[in-house]
Amino acid sequence: MQQHTEAEVCIVGAGFAGLATAIGLVERGVREVVVLEAEHVGFGASGRNGGFVFGGYSLDCAELLAQLGPERARSVYALTRRAVTLIRERVARHAIDCELVEGGALLANWFDDDTLLLRQQRLMEDHFGVHWRFVGKPELDSWVRSERYSAGLVEPDAFHFHPLKYALGAAAAVEAMGGAIHERSPVTAIENASGGARITTPAGSVRARHVVIAGGGYLAGLVPALERAILPIATYVMTTEPLGDALAGLIPSRAAVYDTRFAFDYYRRLNDTRLLWGGRISVRDRRADHIARFLKQDMSKVFPLLRDARIDHAWGGMMSYARHKMPQIGRLPNGWWYGLGFGGHGVAPTTAAGEVLAAAIAHGEPIPEGFERYGLPRTFRPAGLAAAQATYAWAQLKDRWRGLRLS
Ligand SMILES: Cc1cc2nc3c(=O)[nH]c(=O)nc-3n(C[C@H](O)[C@H](O)[C@H](O)COP(=O)(O)OP(=O)(O)OC[C@H]3O[C@@H](n4cnc5c(N)ncnc54)[C@H](O)[C@@H]3O)c2cc1C
Repeated sequence: MQQHTEAEVCIVGAGFAGLATAIGLVERGVREVVVLEAEHVGFGASGRNGGFVFGGYSLDCAELLAQLGPERARSVYALTRRAVTLIRERVARHAIDCELVEGGALLANWFDDDTLLLRQQRLMEDHFGVHWRFVGKPELDSWVRSERYSAGLVEPDAFHFHPLKYALGAAAAVEAMGGAIHERSPVTAIENASGGARITTPAGSVRARHVVIAGGGYLAGLVPALERAILPIATYVMTTEPLGDALAGLIPSRAAVYDTRFAFDYYRRLNDTRLLWGGRISVRDRRADHIARFLKQDMSKVFPLLRDARIDHAWGGMMSYARHKMPQIGRLPNGWWYGLGFGGHGVAPTTAAGEVLAAAIAHGEPIPEGFERYGLPRTFRPAGLAAAQATYAWAQLKDRWRGLRLS
């Protein structure tokens, strides 16, 4: 951005949260929506993710229910179900070419104990109004063939897509509807100004009635009240070389697959017969060759036949996590809006957040109580980062112990 402009709304960050807010605003008839992105559209977690699109949040549904009670938990969950549908509709409406595959999601059981899946199935049915289909071992082979799994649950209303292509398509839709997106425009300061805020970049500034901060795990040095409430946590993905017919032999279905461990693997078939594989978290970004090495070890445990497959690409991305693992959507006392903290389950929740923020800004609708309750508790970096790493290591140990007991 090389100028001084006026806008109704200025959004910081062109990841899914910022873009969904921008689309939500222009769809509601708000004029002069400007998105400022430090790097390029989809540079952060949104352009790097695994491409799973399904309902729910980083906080799991059992905890959501325990914390919010049946009514609020159901309505907060329903926002992500609507978001899944809305993403589909936007892909169709704006003709976004993002390799969308309507394959559903398969939760494969790592442990040899069906009660775990049956409990989850009942929870989803009774409290969230969705039916996840139980798939026993004999049928599981038509979904995924690995000795590691004992059974699975299929979530039919889930799909997967190429996340960067979706982000680029969403950005094009914003521009086609009259919004503006400025890449390579890092916001260096936000100050209150008469009638709104002044948002400054090295090359210019925007004066806007509203500002929305959607910088994800990449937000740094801009808004301390928000930054002290999130932990930037890294997670990783790789893709193999094209595997030809061998891939459909291992994964006959087009489902996106993840498993029942806390530290789970997730993967999906790509259209060109490569396998996209993701997993692990840590508090640091890592080199691509390290990522490829440890993710390949994980992949070989599930599919020993892929032990010698070549890994063509590996990358990491930063997520933003709140202590409570729920998104942080709301307004600071000084009037600035924010949508952060989507963690590792963010595609649908960022879209839900965009709708909530757009409705609040355009029509004065309240932020749903279910979100407000979570607030911005401090994460106490760097101690919070060390605690997150220790919690993850402990959860991995528990997964291993449970795997030994239940096999
Ligand atoms: C490797 C990986 C795999 C994942 N897999 C999945 C998955 O399969 N399914 C799923 O649901 N979720 C997944 N997630 C989580 C999901 O990607 C995130 O929750 C979601 O994309 C967060 O979106 P966001 O817009 O909040 O943040 P981001 O996408 O990180 O966007 C924030 C943007 O703000 C910009 N920014 C920051 N500061 C400034 C500033 N000062 N000025 C201007 N711009 C700024 C950044 O450059 C960035 O582009 C994954 C995440 C990662 C990292």
